[in-house]
Amino acid sequence: MQTFIAIIFFVYGLVLGSFYNVVGLRVPIGTFWKQKQSYCYTCKRSLSWTELIPVISYLNQKGKCKGCGEPFSALYPIMEFSTGILFALSYLVFGFTLETIFSLIVVSMVIIITVSDIAYQKIPNKILLFFAPLISILLIVISNITFLSALIGAGLAFALIFLIIILSKGGMGMGDLKYFTLFGFIFGWKLFLLLFLLSTIYGAAVNSVLLITKKVSRKTKVPFGPYIGAAALTVLFFGNTLLDWYLSLL
Ligand SMILES: [Zn+2]
Repeated sequence: MQTFIAIIFFVYGLVLGSFYNVVGLRVPIGTFWKQKQSYCYTCKRSLSWTELIPVISYLNQKGKCKGCGEPFSALYPIMEFSTGILFALSYLVFGFTLETIFSLIVVSMVIIITVSDIAYQKIPNKILLFFAPLISILLIVISNITFLSALIGAGLAFALIFLIIILSKGGMGMGDLKYFTLFGFIFGWKLFLLLFLLSTIYGAAVNSVLLITKKVSRKTKVPFGPYIGAAALTVLFFGNTLLDWYLSLL
């Protein structure tokens, strides 16, 4: 039964993930309300519903547009599949609780921001302003952490990242600062420090792979948002377990 419900969560995640791709790609350039249909960015042909089935259409068409044969970005199916997995994981970790709703909302925000940051190197204010109140209200209802701890977390995150921005001169941007600060508020200072550590580890690991395989050069500006998001989801699902394990080592 649990597997069956997890699969339902997965399918919902696939479908919503497809929508989040659209949100993440259109909100930063202000075309979210203007464009109705999805179309191929190369030949401008509108896509039919058979071309819009999450992941399956991409695999079926071997990642290419049926009209012009131009390859579609692998980002779309990857984000759809990730949303599916993360929705299923939300259910498997939290069951049917308020935490599940909280988790689904955080996952949704992370997916949209990851798409925007990869596509435009931007963490849109509109997305943060949409999700921050929603997340804060739920946080108060679930109240895993006290309001004071949340404020200390946000303050610490802001101070730390602000310092890094000044010292690194362009390594991170204002978007990263706001994104980190929101997570400081959500998770409190202890888990925030874990989140920060994980994001730098993920960033360093992926960037070295990209450098070795020559996908990027040293001068390429790599967005940091995806690593913040990945670290936040690790903390969301496994944060307390990781922290307990770490503390037991001391
Ligand atoms: Zn095309």
